[in-house]
Amino acid sequence: MALNLYRRHRKECEGSHPEDTRTGQFEEGRRGWKKCACLIHVSGTLGGRFNRRQTGTADWDEAKSIVTLLQQSGSWDGQEKIEAPLTLPYTNPERISVIRAIAAFTAEFEEHTAPNTQRNYKFVLKQLRGFSDAKGYAAIDQWTPIDVREFRATWGVLPSTAAKNMSVVKAFFEFCHANEWTPRNPARMVKNQRGQHNDPRSEQKLPFSDEELKRMYDACDSKYGKREIQFSKATKERKAQGPYAQHRTRWKGQDIADFISVSVYTGLRISDVSTFHIDRMRPDGTIQLRTTKAHTHVYTWVPEWLQQRIRTRALETGPYIFGEHSTNDMNVITDLWRRKLNKLWELCGPWKDKPTPHRFRHAFARILLERPGVTVRDVAELLGNTEQIVRKHYAAWIPERQERLTAVLKAAFDTKPKPKPNVIAMPKPAKG
Ligand SMILES: [Zn+2]
Repeated sequence: MALNLYRRHRKECEGSHPEDTRTGQFEEGRRGWKKCACLIHVSGTLGGRFNRRQTGTADWDEAKSIVTLLQQSGSWDGQEKIEAPLTLPYTNPERISVIRAIAAFTAEFEEHTAPNTQRNYKFVLKQLRGFSDAKGYAAIDQWTPIDVREFRATWGVLPSTAAKNMSVVKAFFEFCHANEWTPRNPARMVKNQRGQHNDPRSEQKLPFSDEELKRMYDACDSKYGKREIQFSKATKERKAQGPYAQHRTRWKGQDIADFISVSVYTGLRISDVSTFHIDRMRPDGTIQLRTTKAHTHVYTWVPEWLQQRIRTRALETGPYIFGEHSTNDMNVITDLWRRKLNKLWELCGPWKDKPTPHRFRHAFARILLERPGVTVRDVAELLGNTEQIVRKHYAAWIPERQERLTAVLKAAFDTKPKPKPNVIAMPKPAKG
C-alpha cells in the first residue's frame, strides 16, 4: 500500500471547502458533507519514485480503479501503457508506444519547466500524438525524418513559431533516443526553415528609449485615467452614476508610473513586477532579483526616490505593491497589467515599434550597457542570461558603450608619459 488518494479542493469548490484543503473518502462519508467536483489526487511511491498527480476524476470508485491500474503496472507512467491500444502493429514488447513515450517525457519536463513552457510542450506533444494516430504509428520508433518534416508542414505557423515548436519535437525525440526507444533522433537532421528568425538582426531587442519612457511618464501624469468616460448607448444610464464609474477606475496614472519605474529599474519581468512583494526590497534599497543555480542571490539597487515610492505603495496598497490577486494563474495577473499598459500606450502613441512590457527589461539592459565600466557580464548576471545572449540581443548598444570606454581610455592616458616619437614611429614601407 504505497499510494494514497485524497481530494484537493479548488477555489471554485461547489461545497465551499477551503482552497487547497484535502479530504478523504471516509471523511466525506459523514452526514451533511457537501459534495463537490474537485479532483481526486494520488500520491505515493511507485517503482521507487515518489510522485503526486491528479487522477482526472472526482469519483472515488474511478480514482480507485486508476490506482489499481497504476499498481499493476508498477510505475507512474504505466497507466498509459495499459491504456494503449491492444492491437499494436508490432509484437516486440520492448518497443515503446507513442503514448507512453509522451507520458514519460511529460513527467520529466513537468518537474523543471515553467508553467507557460509546459503549456507549449503539451500543445506540441498533443499534435504529435494526433499526427501519429493519423499515420497509424503506435510505436515511437516508427517515426522517421520524413515524418518530422511532414508533421512540421501540418502546423501552418510563422517560421519563428515553427522553430520554437521544432525545438520541443527535437527535445522529445532526443529523450526517446537517450532511452533507446528509437534508433536515432528523427528530428535532429531536420533544419529550421529559412525565415526571419535566421536573420541575426531579428535577434536584436528593442529597448524603450529615454524619450519613449519620458513620454509614458508624461501620459501617466496628464492623460491616464483622466479621459472622459465614454458611454455607449446601451449603458447610457450609467452616466448618472458617474462617480461610481470613476470609483471603479481604481488604478491611477501614478500606479502605472510606479509599475514602469520598478520594471525599468530592476529589469524584472512583468510577472515578477505584478507580484512584487515589499519584502523583496531590503532596507538599503537593494532588491533581490533572482537566485542563481549555485543558490546565491543577485541584487539590484534602486534610487532613494523609488525606494520611497515602493514603501509608500506598501502602506497604501499592501505588501503586494501592485495588488494582491485572488488567482494564482500568472497569465491572468500579468494580463491585468498588460491591459493597463496598453491603455497607456494608446494614450501616448503613435509608436515606431510596438510597445510591449518586455521592452522595459530591454531598457534596463540598454541603460546599463550605455554606462562606461559596465560589462556585458554584469548585465548578463543581473538579467540572468548568458553573456552570449546579451551580446546577441543588445549588440547595438555595445558599440556605443565601447565608444564611451574608448573616450574614457583616451582621456585617462592623454597626459601620461610616452616614449620618444622615434621609438613608436611606424617603419617605412619598403619601396616596390
Ligand atoms: Zn471541493
